[in-house]
Amino acid sequence: MNLLEVNHLSRRYGDFIAVDDISFSLQAGELLALIGPNGAGKSTTFNMIGGQLPVTSGSILLDGESIVDLPARRIWKKGVGRTFQIAATFNSFTVLQNIQNALLSYRRRTFCIWQAADRLYRQDACALLEQVGMLAQADRPCSELAYGDIKRVELAMALASEPRLLLMDEPTAGMAPGERQALMALTRDIAQARNTGVLFTEHSMDVVFGFADRILVLARGQLIAQGTAQAIRDDPKVRQVYFGTGPSLQGDSDSNAPQPFSPGQRACTGATQS
Ligand code: ADP
Ligand code: MG
Repeated sequence: MNLLEVNHLSRRYGDFIAVDDISFSLQAGELLALIGPNGAGKSTTFNMIGGQLPVTSGSILLDGESIVDLPARRIWKKGVGRTFQIAATFNSFTVLQNIQNALLSYRRRTFCIWQAADRLYRQDACALLEQVGMLAQADRPCSELAYGDIKRVELAMALASEPRLLLMDEPTAGMAPGERQALMALTRDIAQARNTGVLFTEHSMDVVFGFADRILVLARGQLIAQGTAQAIRDDPKVRQVYFGTGPSLQGDSDSNAPQPFSPGQRACTGATQS
């Protein structure tokens, strides 16, 4: 059974169709990239799966069970995690305390004073920090962290809820190329170790083609292609969206021909959105 199955999912805003009848599936342990120009409907798709946004029509099944129209917290409890938007309080805690907070929030323990919370889940929190390579910085205030390290803490916070499916909307935004590769390599290793499915959006084609098991391409709300990196590279519709080049380039084995998605290229910049 597929971990995630999305069938004929749509989202309208009035007459405007932000997500238009898309269907795809995702297996446990798989890294699936959702790419497309700005405004293509990627975040809208994420928000419907995570329950932050009601769907207009269609179905979303997690391990065969419908999660459409459930409150976001229920969906989260059922195993759909996402990298946290940094909370306002994030900087006022240490790395370790933030992970403990995430564990507390998921396990819904209440606490009265920090001293008690301080001991709570300390071992589990340390184990999570070890997984993301941040244990040595456990006691540092998050306000002092480098950007790439903050992203690793965010990943550990998302893992605190033991997600079966992890949604990562632009996890590497603002990161340097080397840091992006490192974060996605870490994400892939963790996903494989935990058999977690990961759906992510990403602008760097290096990252997408380097790490995604499969790729979905959205354009103006429609899923225009899905498949392996090679299939996506060669897909005429994808080339059209990103480069304005037609199907004639498909199958062109001439090494002098324009190569789509060259290193460092950003997937969001090549297309126009009316
Ligand atoms: P992406 O994440 O791929 O950049 P989004 O999912 O954020 O795209 O947006 C898809 C489209 O839906 C965009 O054209 C956007 O302007 C539109 N949209 C998003 N939210 C709203 C809203 N609340 N009301 C109207 N249109 C919206
Ligand atoms: Mg977006």
